[in-house]
Amino acid sequence: MSLPMTNETATTEPLVFCQPDGRRIKLTASVVAQLLRYAQHQLTDKEAGGVLIGRYLCDSDDIVVDQVTEPMPGDKRGRYFFHRAQKAHQHAIEQAWQASQGTRTYLGEWHTHPEANPTPSGVDTGDWRRKLQQDQYFERLFFVIVGTQEVRVWCGSRKQAKLISLQSHPVES
Ligand SMILES: [Zn+2]
Repeated sequence: MSLPMTNETATTEPLVFCQPDGRRIKLTASVVAQLLRYAQHQLTDKEAGGVLIGRYLCDSDDIVVDQVTEPMPGDKRGRYFFHRAQKAHQHAIEQAWQASQGTRTYLGEWHTHPEANPTPSGVDTGDWRRKLQQDQYFERLFFVIVGTQEVRVWCGSRKQAKLISLQSHPVES
């Protein structure tokens, strides 16, 4: 989905992506605005990243990402890499979990790339597969890459080691 990134005054829209089974994952408008602030438009902009936090909607199995963590002290950031410091981001996940009585939780990861239409590197897919293997709680995780013109989402399930690129879905008004 193309994004009006050059127009700073444009109202940010939520983004919706469709999983192969028809379930949707929505990034709220405020999450999209937060992610786009880190898009690497300048040659000196470093990669950024964090975790995705949100909830499953009980009536539809759709998923809403309504919070993301932003780069924190301890993260390692370069033009072409981002390594997140485990502890600080983990703390945000635990806080969201407790404040919501266990309804809001870790859903995956995001990071930026200095390219228009982002594709995961070999390091990315290796890292994502490792997270899927380590995660004991959830059947699937989501991985967002924020490019300079496009935000893309991949989904991975623990059972199949496959990573699937999700199609963007028109947002209902
Ligand atoms: Zn990457």
